[in-house]
Amino acid sequence: MSRRPPMQKNSKDNYRVKGRGEQKGQKAGKEAPKYAKSGGNNQSGNSSRSDGSNKSGVNNKSGGSHSSGKKYTDGYSAKDLGKLSESSKKDFKKGGSNRVHYDNDFIFWCRECNLPLIGEKCGVCGSNGDKITLSQPADVRFAQGYDYDLIEKHLLDLFSCNPLKNRVLLLNKIPGDDQTMEIIADGRVVGMLRFDLKILDFVFEPTLEGSKLFFNEPYNFASAERVVKIGKAKAHLNGKNVTYDLIEEFPSGIKKGETVLIVSGNLTGYGISHADSEDFYRVKKENESASSAMSTKSDAEIKAAQILKVKSITSDDPSSFALSDKMPTMDDVVAANKDYIKALGKDAMNTIKGAVNLKDNKEKPVFVSFSGGKDSLVVLDLAASALVHRPFTAVFLNTGIDYPETVEFARSYCESRNIPFEEMSAGDDFWKTLKVQNHPTKDSRWCCKVCKLNSSNRLGDGKPHLSLDGKRRQESFMRSKIPTMDINPNVEGQLNIFPIRDWRAIEVWLYIHWRKLPYNSLYDNGLERIGCWMCPAAFQAEYERMKEIHPELADRWETYLTNWAKKAGVSDAYVKHGFWRWEQLPPKMIKLAEELNIDIEKNESF
Ligand code: SF4
Repeated sequence: MSRRPPMQKNSKDNYRVKGRGEQKGQKAGKEAPKYAKSGGNNQSGNSSRSDGSNKSGVNNKSGGSHSSGKKYTDGYSAKDLGKLSESSKKDFKKGGSNRVHYDNDFIFWCRECNLPLIGEKCGVCGSNGDKITLSQPADVRFAQGYDYDLIEKHLLDLFSCNPLKNRVLLLNKIPGDDQTMEIIADGRVVGMLRFDLKILDFVFEPTLEGSKLFFNEPYNFASAERVVKIGKAKAHLNGKNVTYDLIEEFPSGIKKGETVLIVSGNLTGYGISHADSEDFYRVKKENESASSAMSTKSDAEIKAAQILKVKSITSDDPSSFALSDKMPTMDDVVAANKDYIKALGKDAMNTIKGAVNLKDNKEKPVFVSFSGGKDSLVVLDLAASALVHRPFTAVFLNTGIDYPETVEFARSYCESRNIPFEEMSAGDDFWKTLKVQNHPTKDSRWCCKVCKLNSSNRLGDGKPHLSLDGKRRQESFMRSKIPTMDINPNVEGQLNIFPIRDWRAIEVWLYIHWRKLPYNSLYDNGLERIGCWMCPAAFQAEYERMKEIHPELADRWETYLTNWAKKAGVSDAYVKHGFWRWEQLPPKMIKLAEELNIDIEKNESF
């Protein structure tokens, strides 16, 4: 098992606002830290100002004109909203597809200290980091806990060694059929973990850069059993399928679909095997004997003889990428980023103060929506620091299908910090509703209303109130346009304030580690997102992990799904591969059904 970069221990350090522009250890007038985020709170036109006033854009979903003076049902006048409304400079734009493009898609990497930076300058050595552009949506985070075990398992399975052990690793979630993450080590994308819906397991694939690691000492010895040797090719090999006759060495133990390392003359790279080792030797033998008998090979035989696909190959010397000897801890990473994260925290606190101190908001009760997850944890801590003279209550909407760890953490965190806590429970409503209608799906989430909205509508007795919320724009397309403040059209009287909407996951985690906040243990146990344990909106990878963490909960749900499948007339495989999570299957699942030969037609009544 890997040793992870040690996390900081909890402390009760206080975090209070210093004078304007001043931070702990930083005198007023000192140059403000430069952010990696091009459109974050400090630089965008919709940031809250450092004097506590707010010039954020407000998304008025009630549909009235801002200048009409009309009173809205929740107590906010259009005039009030207009005062706040200033056109926001968005740091995202629509790409050619339906996908949002975020401009804050980079971080820096300090080569001296070998660690990531959210701003250009390293707070430890003072040098400027190299800019690292991230794949969209660039909501990058640290690998932690189980992530290290997962990476180690797959590297050992494939290459019999783990060059990434004990390193600070970043995981960057990218689009894919299911959970897919780029792995960043030493400031380079070295590979990708992709959950394969066919085999219901993760698959590791190196990048060309990452593949170099396995050709270098000391890892080349262990990974030798994964190296396929190809004879000198007359044409380019990149992206090409390679037939058996070009292959000089093919180690035993390779399975179809697995990643292999490739050597061809002075070229090195990686590819995917189309065949098991045994198949390669059988095809080679059959074709050679056919060839010696002067027979003509059929197209089918030639196709069958395509043994692997070269994904990427280069003449670069593999030693051009050697891992650094520097192995920083999480404490080092926090120290290197401290000025930036402090400034981000201060900015978010100013957003909170600016919003709650608006004339119309001064008398309204303040709630912090606390889900037990990392984002709302940060907002709760920011609120505790920002609202010293303004009472607030942490509200936990217990859906009745939350992970036990989440419920326990939400309660114990608030109790240990003397934070007023209100738990609003949906009780058994989920299971009762399930008796009269089909389970919720990604495209029909009745659970949100039954398990969350019904409770939240009791908040503040429906009277005007403020709710601090940890939603972030980079979490999803749906959240990509959230403004700093927003009337919640679904909850009577609620004005939401989103103080960390521009933060990315890496900033959230840096804040948590800097503040030494305890956090939900599920994050160290393989879950990136904390929601309900059977959530249809979760990745299949997360569902599979849930089965390992809580087999007793999984049993209950699988019993339901098995009975449902019988009534719906679908197979066990339909349930097993996660088709139940949709009412209308998307193209990727229809394709998967074809590949797995799964009948997706349900009975008429479904
Ligand atoms: S987290 Fe998932 S299961 Fe829970 S209410 Fe939301 S969509 Fe439904």
